[in-house]
Amino acid sequence: MAAMTSSARPPLNRRLTEFGTTIFAEMSALAARTGSINLGQGFPDTDGPEEIREAAVRALRDGRGNQYPPGPGVPELRAAVAAHQRRRYGLDFDPDTEVLVTAGATEAIAASLLALLEPGDEVVALEPYYDSYAACIAMAGGKRVPVTLRPDPERARFRLDLDELRDAVTDRTRLLLVNTPHNPTGTVLTREELTAIAALAVERDLLVVTDEVYEHLVFDGAEHVPMATLPGMRERTVTIGSAGKTFSFTGWKVGWITGPPGLVTAVRSAKQFLTYVASGPFQYAVAEALGMPDSYFDAFRADMRTKRDLLAGGLEQAGFAVYRPAGTYFVTTDIRPLGESDGFAFCRTLPERCGVVAIPNAVFYDHREEGAPFVRFAFCKRTDVLEEAAARLKTLGG
Ligand SMILES: *Cc1c(COP(=O)(O)O)cnc(C)c1O
Repeated sequence: MAAMTSSARPPLNRRLTEFGTTIFAEMSALAARTGSINLGQGFPDTDGPEEIREAAVRALRDGRGNQYPPGPGVPELRAAVAAHQRRRYGLDFDPDTEVLVTAGATEAIAASLLALLEPGDEVVALEPYYDSYAACIAMAGGKRVPVTLRPDPERARFRLDLDELRDAVTDRTRLLLVNTPHNPTGTVLTREELTAIAALAVERDLLVVTDEVYEHLVFDGAEHVPMATLPGMRERTVTIGSAGKTFSFTGWKVGWITGPPGLVTAVRSAKQFLTYVASGPFQYAVAEALGMPDSYFDAFRADMRTKRDLLAGGLEQAGFAVYRPAGTYFVTTDIRPLGESDGFAFCRTLPERCGVVAIPNAVFYDHREEGAPFVRFAFCKRTDVLEEAAARLKTLGG
């Protein structure tokens, strides 16, 4: 029997109507229908380290994490997250009061915004943004205020306009939502840009939520500077990390936040009513993964850099203007040199034209026109897949 709904009122509430279905569903369906190579959604097509997979199997067999783990996360993982932040960045967090394990970074984002915002609070976020930010701000009753990252073709990166950022902050601003390395542009915010964001946060007494899930994916000597390491920031920053991108197990959904006790306790209050807990056995495996030697992280980064160069080179040869990313596993291109200007139309026809699926960056913008000519490709795929994609893209011009 069909579900009954009252009169003319649509089932989806007003906070969420603008977020119908994601572009990823549409494009993945298109990829399947046309037999295209899917460089749309950002997930690796090979699993992470065998020994970490085995660690998960062991945990499962040994009965660790098969029942509800502790609300804040298993002690082994909280200790490993704290040790990681200390070893990599010199940041000290108490595993008992300053670390919270979440169901991926996605839940960390949702719980942070639901916990920290009052209805009507403004959130300044860097546009284009990861698709869950806008929806989570809306669910929390907040108002998003985008600050657009501008293309700088000269230096082949997107950069933050610090005056625009400053102008975006009002008396109603509650927090700044930052993401570096940045999806989808591949920009790694510089120490100078981050220092300016930090100074603004201190001056206007704002909280900062910073999504650093690509912290280990920076290339060519670019430096990932955690927001919490900057002056005055540790006490006002919620830092979000995730095992999905760092260890190539995106299905495990193990994420975490670090921050001062007051903020972590607040986020935990929201988190306990979302999933309560998640990913029990995987938490033990990720605790081991975080303890892997630097050689793992170096090899992972080198491998992704090779893949980046392979795809970026192919896109350049195909005639795209390429913003070669300093971080993440996405490359943003400008399609105007191909005589195109509408990324949506381009991505809808690309599978038919050459058997490759990409994502129009416009979906990550409120100012859609700003993102219109940009298209994002993921390069976290096997080398042979990227080579085939590059070969197919080359047929575009002809
Ligand atoms: C993939 C991604 C996430 C989600 O991470 P999960 O741990 O899989 O939930 C969050 N933020 C950004 C920028 C991402 O690219």
